[in-house]
Amino acid sequence: MTAQDRLQELRSQVDTINLQLLDLLSKRAQIVTQIGKVLEELGGEHYDPMREAQMLTALEMANKGPFSNETIKALFRELFRASLALEEQQSRAKMRVQRKAKDERTIIQLPNGAVIGDGSFQLVAGSCAVESYEQIDEVGAALAARGVKIMRGMAYKPRTSPYEFQGLGEQGLQIARQVANKYGMAVTSEIMDQSQIPLFMDYVDVFWVGARNMQNSFLLKALGKINRPVILKRGLAATLEEFLYAAEYIVSSGNPNIILIERGIRTFEKWTRNTLDVGGVAVLKLESHLPVVVDISHSAGRRDIAKPLARVAKAVGADGLMVEVHPNPPVAMSDAKQQLSIPEFNDLMDDLAAPI
Ligand code: PEP
Ligand code: MN
Repeated sequence: MTAQDRLQELRSQVDTINLQLLDLLSKRAQIVTQIGKVLEELGGEHYDPMREAQMLTALEMANKGPFSNETIKALFRELFRASLALEEQQSRAKMRVQRKAKDERTIIQLPNGAVIGDGSFQLVAGSCAVESYEQIDEVGAALAARGVKIMRGMAYKPRTSPYEFQGLGEQGLQIARQVANKYGMAVTSEIMDQSQIPLFMDYVDVFWVGARNMQNSFLLKALGKINRPVILKRGLAATLEEFLYAAEYIVSSGNPNIILIERGIRTFEKWTRNTLDVGGVAVLKLESHLPVVVDISHSAGRRDIAKPLARVAKAVGADGLMVEVHPNPPVAMSDAKQQLSIPEFNDLMDDLAAPI
């Protein structure tokens, strides 16, 4: 046998072993999937570090070389990771918020006729907080004149410091409702705690869960029991998966009408308040059938880039924009740096109407 023939022969043995290994890997993956199902029935976690440690020890004891124990452990750890990823992928595919068909979409209709998620581009706009009737009336008139149908009516503000303006409370909700009725708009307002649900039922068309409450699973479950839409903002440092699981809490509790808002995530960047995750918006649109709105105010923390961010939101396929507008931003009680004045808002609307 020539060296060339020997090489051929050995390579064909390796090819056969590769196929055998592939077969074994696939069988292993199927069994691991079955284990995952049993664990779910038992209410246990898929990831079991103790079990992984036991398997690695058994492999070490059985290892006769030529691979070192370290190499064997590294190879098997990779296999464990791949199995866990497979299980996660399978459990994500079962999520209600996950898109199952290319054209699947959740379309939300509000009592004032506003529709979101139907392929149109909706605006959710208004001041950071309700400060007075005059302020909200002035903003409401400006929004209505530009066809905005969903108004922010924030009465409870989650401020960083307890010494900062906390919102007008129920009086703020009353003002927002009054102004929204005057101009034919729907009202949305941030709820802080499930105990406020009965109060909010009297005033809002759309409940709003802020970034700081995105993982408040008790609040999410309670909002799953009401029959009004919910705006859910992405947490300050939440992954997309965590964001979708938060939405899943509401949907799996019985309320399918969720609007997701990307509001920027915390990064090392200082020149914007947060970093607008444009890629995240595209991924959310791909992975989920829920409408996705882009908050160009909190993601930027500044008003001078509102127009380009709005264009980006539209271009990336978002279902709308969230923008803060105040009659006199420099004296606003909160988020003074990012709220648009009424002329700036009109300018933004003109820009959005122009082709991208
Ligand atoms: C808001 O939009 O009113 C707000 C407080 O933003 P966030 O929850 O994203 O910080
Ligand atoms: Mn704000």
